[in-house]
Amino acid sequence: MANLDDLPIRDDLKGRKPYGAPQLHVPVSLNVNENTHKIPREVVEDIFARVAQATLGLNRYPDREFEALRISFAKYLGHGLTFEQIWAANGSNEVLQHIFQAFGGPGRLALGFGPTYSMYPLIARGMDTKYVDAPRLERYELTPEHIREQVLKHKPNIVMLCSPNNPTGTPLSLDCVIAAYEAVTEATGGIVVVDEAYAEFAADGAESAIELLPGRERLLVSRTMSKAFAFAGARVGYLAADEAVVDALRLVRLPYHLSALTQAAAEAALDHAPTMLATVDDIRFQRDRIIVELKAMGLEPYRSDANFVLFAGVPDSAATFEALLERGILVRNVGIPHTLRVTAGTEQETSEFLSSLREVLGN
Ligand SMILES: *Cc1c(COP(=O)(O)O)cnc(C)c1O
Repeated sequence: MANLDDLPIRDDLKGRKPYGAPQLHVPVSLNVNENTHKIPREVVEDIFARVAQATLGLNRYPDREFEALRISFAKYLGHGLTFEQIWAANGSNEVLQHIFQAFGGPGRLALGFGPTYSMYPLIARGMDTKYVDAPRLERYELTPEHIREQVLKHKPNIVMLCSPNNPTGTPLSLDCVIAAYEAVTEATGGIVVVDEAYAEFAADGAESAIELLPGRERLLVSRTMSKAFAFAGARVGYLAADEAVVDALRLVRLPYHLSALTQAAAEAALDHAPTMLATVDDIRFQRDRIIVELKAMGLEPYRSDANFVLFAGVPDSAATFEALLERGILVRNVGIPHTLRVTAGTEQETSEFLSSLREVLGN
């Protein structure tokens, strides 16, 4: 077997590391922000039926425009969106890749505010797009003024805003999105991508950047079924934007990129959206409970509008990560010193995490 370094891969990929959250089989897996609740039985049965029906037609290519699915997403998102404004792909990661294929590329620059989603620089690199990791303010917060300053300074073609932010959980106000849009319009006429992977977990009454779409044809809002919808294994992400943006993404996608089975499963799941999302309230409750209990342990959790909590004050994150793992609990070491991230699971998983952490830290 050859060594990766011996292969004639692109120069800009040499020495790079792939995305690598550990996939370990442990009793309590709280490391990649999945919804740890099972899909309700009644929905599973409907998915089976729809996938079985689709199987009968697998000799033919699927609907390349996945129109029925886009109609379902438009209906789910509301805000008067039409299906022409919706795009979808195999996970929002693929949606983001389509965006970088169409709007990034050699000589172009993307900007994110770190720490943020680790896939942004990886997707940028895959498309030979430069990536700037702009700083965040105290406690990982952002303000419109700070965003404006950074965008005007670096002049990116793509601004990535993660709302709420992974791995910190930080909510983002719509003022910040508007500031990014106005600044990038002045600087380069580029695009703003708001990644709302965790939108459903936000506080009641929280606003979505979808509200800002009218009149902003270079604003893109991406969503996923991987988190609140408990559908990570199905690989379905989607996007709302101007129709012209969807036309741009059509230029770069591979034909028939969403299989008939994926389309059928996602349509069935969306037909049961309220049932699929029934666990969201409990997950938010567990998240808030984690924050309260971590504070009681003398740790420093950050505010979170997502289904996970980042917390500081850990004496040694690597040692604590390992000690939890020995007790069958997998959390995420995101590489910030004295800090770990944990997904809010079921009540029982959350209790096991909290009691194990208390044991490990001795407080
Ligand atoms: C989990 C996550 C996604 C979702 O990725 P999929 O490809 O849809 O599974 C997107 N963005 C962020 C910030 C995430 O944390």
